[in-house]
Amino acid sequence: MSRRYKVLALVGDGIAHEIVPEALKLLDAVQTVYGFDLEVLGPYEFGAKYYAYHDMKTGWDPAVTRELLFEADCWFKGPVGLPEYLNRLPGPYLPINQRLDMDVYANVRPCRLRPGVDSVLVGREPGDIDYIVLRENTEQMYVRVGGQLSRGGETELAVDNYIQTRKGCERIIRYGYELAMSGDYKGGAGAPVDGARRLTCAAKWGICRGDNLFKAVCEELEPGYPGVETDYAWIDAWSYWAIMRPDYYDVVVMPNQYGDIMSDMSGAVQGSMGLAGSINAGDAHCYAEPTHGSAPDIAGRGVANPTSLILSVGMMLNWLGDKRGDQRLKDAWRGIDDAVDTVLAARRVRTPDLGGSSSTAEFGDAVIGALAPP
Ligand code: NAD
Repeated sequence: MSRRYKVLALVGDGIAHEIVPEALKLLDAVQTVYGFDLEVLGPYEFGAKYYAYHDMKTGWDPAVTRELLFEADCWFKGPVGLPEYLNRLPGPYLPINQRLDMDVYANVRPCRLRPGVDSVLVGREPGDIDYIVLRENTEQMYVRVGGQLSRGGETELAVDNYIQTRKGCERIIRYGYELAMSGDYKGGAGAPVDGARRLTCAAKWGICRGDNLFKAVCEELEPGYPGVETDYAWIDAWSYWAIMRPDYYDVVVMPNQYGDIMSDMSGAVQGSMGLAGSINAGDAHCYAEPTHGSAPDIAGRGVANPTSLILSVGMMLNWLGDKRGDQRLKDAWRGIDDAVDTVLAARRVRTPDLGGSSSTAEFGDAVIGALAPP
């Protein structure tokens, strides 16, 4: 008998309330089209607003236990956080520190110029841009190893240590080589300009010792992947080249904070943050979330682009398909990705970030209507 997969849905803040319902509708529809069985748990509330409504005591619905987060086959969340609550919240948003506790070390953030989307880069056409920012997710500046010195109630010194380990470098770089070989999460394998499967290692060696290690590990692993061309770029130069020749890039692997910043820049390169999907993937766990935040500037108006989360849950299904050996889930990812392209290419239904006037729900409905059986 075919297995029933458990998928946990978490809402979050701001536009999460608008885009999460579209992801839920989509998951409902893809089960029928691709013939698999999901048990969707939730959606459950969590985040800054939840804290505020619960007297700043707890950040998540009590149904969301630590065990549930680990037991689900995978899960997804809308963006979380609101600027007015920054540094005011007493605890974490969830009962775990997601990225570290689940050891989801690979943050996969595709950047593709899709049909029907006008590029912000002059002269670039759909098909010209199709790369992945592969961000290491468990090291570098975001592991909170550091401290601060306060005297007389005033913070005088703050330190964040830059941590890079051999294990951390090795597994993310291997993940990058494997992504380049598989072509997963891309429109097609290889770089648009020449079809080469290319891994670009981007960091700041020569300055940061952690980045010397990152590059050295890549050089050690390079001979093991003869089918993939290895390319090295200083991260500052890469931010230039990504704009000047985005078609040269296929998979670009980088330490944590660089990936955080470069994937937002890549949101612009692909035409809108509302198109920027991502998964946080490890060997045992995966959760999906958009690259962007809660977009308080447009929240509550029903105009957010749900594509980011729709693509994220598609990627999550692909990850699950690989882990459980279930081709139907991988077909569903491809089907979701193609359906998004079909709707964008038609230029009839589009949200304001892409110059249209459709609502979030209208766009979500159009994607579901464009789902084609494998
Ligand atoms: P943001 O990513 O929320 O917004 C940046 C810009 O992109 C805004 O102009 C916004 O309108 C636009 N945008 C984002 N998503 C869109 C969508 N789906 N459709 C159309 N336009 C979209 O960045 P911000 O304003 O700096 O952050 C807002 C809050 O989100 C902050 O509290 C921040 O801490 C939080 N945040 C959360 C996450 C996360 O949950 N993973 C990530 C980043 C920021």
